[in-house]
Amino acid sequence: MKVALVGIGKIAVDQHVPSIGASDEWELAATVSRSGTVDGVPSYTEIDTMLAENPDIEVVSLCLPPVPRFDYAAACIKAGRHVMLEKPPGATLAEVHALQAMANDAGVVLFATWHSRMAKGVAAAKAALDGKILESAHIDWKENVRKWHPGQDWVWEPGGMGVLDPGINALSILTEILPAPVHLRSGVLEVPANRQTPVTAELKFTGNVTASFDWLKEGEQLWEMQLTATDGTAVQLKDGGNRCLVDGEEQPEAQLGEYPGLYARMADLARKGQSDVDLAPMVHVSDIMTLCEREPAPAFEW
Ligand code: NAP
Repeated sequence: MKVALVGIGKIAVDQHVPSIGASDEWELAATVSRSGTVDGVPSYTEIDTMLAENPDIEVVSLCLPPVPRFDYAAACIKAGRHVMLEKPPGATLAEVHALQAMANDAGVVLFATWHSRMAKGVAAAKAALDGKILESAHIDWKENVRKWHPGQDWVWEPGGMGVLDPGINALSILTEILPAPVHLRSGVLEVPANRQTPVTAELKFTGNVTASFDWLKEGEQLWEMQLTATDGTAVQLKDGGNRCLVDGEEQPEAQLGEYPGLYARMADLARKGQSDVDLAPMVHVSDIMTLCEREPAPAFEW
């Protein structure tokens, strides 16, 4: 299947290009980016030109930041192409609902990807909690924004989500593995004096679920969660969901991993003509932005 990649920046280069290249099912047939290109692949700067000149490209994978993404997605759907959205699937919930309706009317597939759900330990954690009642859970998602998003000012702009950009990855895992949904009760966001989005988040959900997100973590980076069920089952997810321990025992890993898993899933969805849009993680982020207290934090500079 031919795919075009749009927004050739950090995640396109780090993950999408190698995952497409390693797959027998996919061919990277074009890129669209204002300045980014991929060696040996026809490049365009305008989405409409790429779509008009490449009627044989069935799938477009959008790797740009969430705010500019909607117009590109709408153009692709209008041109009858299946669309893959990087996470978070949009800047607002309403615009993703609009894309869902457009894709449905056009008879094309829309896949709102959550790469962390494809991490190698997530399926084992879900299986371990299946049919159980959650007693409590805690998430620590603590990383250094300067290392993972160097110079990306969009993360601090409205729609960029700040620390909830990585935090939504944790929430995408949580919403995948919990045996029953939870919702936000309260929280505190620290917002740098010169920025629009939070740099830390302390969150309390129903079901004794708590989360601590920090974007200024130096040294060891932490992407972990611990969950306990009422029957005593203890589930730990480490390394961003890539390792799962149940009652202290390491569980077998899923084969593919995050981005290869997303492209395998997209191939399957395209063959079946089936969309996959789960907005549960983004509903939590929207609730966090609605309900949490704000506290000022020192100005952030790169
Ligand atoms: P990025 O490198 O800052 O942006 C990707 C590319 O999008 C840029 O290189 C730019 O390419 C294009 N772009 C940026 N702003 C644009 C605009 N206003 N209009 C049109 N094109 C624009 O971002 P990223 O880190 O790859 O993240 C992109 C998405 O992937 C985000 O939703 C993020 O949450 C997700 N993601 C990121 C990571 C990560 O580690 N960084 C991991 C997983 C998922 P041109 O200048 O060439 O047009």
